[in-house]
Amino acid sequence: MKILDGKKISQDIKDELKKLVSNRIANGLKKPHLAAIIVGSDGASLTYVGSKVRACDYVGYDSTLIQLEESITEELLLEQINRLNKDKSVDGFIVQLPLPKGIDEQKILLAIDPNKDVDGFHPTNFGKMSLEMESFIPATPYGIIELLDRYKIETSGKNCVVIGRSNIVGRPVSILLSQKSKKGDATVTLAHSRTKNLKSITRNADIIISALGIPEFLKSDMVKEGVVIIDVGITRVPNDSSPKGYSIIGDVDYKKVSKKSIAITPVPGGVGPMTISMLLKNTFLACQRKD
Ligand code: NAD
Repeated sequence: MKILDGKKISQDIKDELKKLVSNRIANGLKKPHLAAIIVGSDGASLTYVGSKVRACDYVGYDSTLIQLEESITEELLLEQINRLNKDKSVDGFIVQLPLPKGIDEQKILLAIDPNKDVDGFHPTNFGKMSLEMESFIPATPYGIIELLDRYKIETSGKNCVVIGRSNIVGRPVSILLSQKSKKGDATVTLAHSRTKNLKSITRNADIIISALGIPEFLKSDMVKEGVVIIDVGITRVPNDSSPKGYSIIGDVDYKKVSKKSIAITPVPGGVGPMTISMLLKNTFLACQRKD
């Protein structure tokens, strides 16, 4: 059984980007610049944004963190977005989700200039991705594809089951895996909360990508011997014996499922770190496209 070490691959990607940034500077070109907007003080969101800013520092990008009050109006948030759209020094930016109640998430995402939408959530990028045109691919699905690629996991002709149909993970990764492209050509089933007899579907899968957010949902009797498992789930579960007061648990019963797997991502240290490095990769592309 091979552990798909997202932490290591993510580090490799960051080191590759660091070199590319040095080359840009040596050639008199500007550093990439990523900005992030965060609204409110949700603990998990602050942690994610903090990691993104630290990753920017590591690879040598400029970064700007815009922290806004939970009570901000939609109008003022849209103003901030317009400012970033117009700011020539910013190559790409993200709006950390979820947003507080009362702010229309769709309206906010639509306001982002698609050329700066390094999260790849704007319909222009999502549409282009679906049509196999050059676009920004959402960071988590992009990270999953990259992980499969770097570990040389064959996807062509494989039965692949994606559990979860969110716009940020399940649906885009199901599209990418079904495409006639690198790490595509799979026969994809997209399962969700209304799927019947999920076990009969997952037991036929060569590759399972689980993105539903229910701790240890995927049990060993739901998978066949020799399966490849990508666990996207991240759930904070209270744990008094941990200094943080919680543990991060994936969607997969790792202990038992790993015994039947030929390859599996751990949680933490699997898909999570890949998401950050692919966001940095998209930011690099955004910067390069402007040259
Ligand atoms: P979501 O929370 O928006 O939706 C969950 C999906 O799971 C839905 O499509 C739903 O239909 C499906 N689902 C729920 N119960 C089900 C069931 N019993 N059987 C089959 N399907 C079921 O999804 P999301 O935003 O993609 O998040 C999923 C998980 O991935 C969460 O734990 C989230 O924290 C994690 N996540 C991790 C990363 C990362 O970087 N590793 C990035 C994004 C999300």
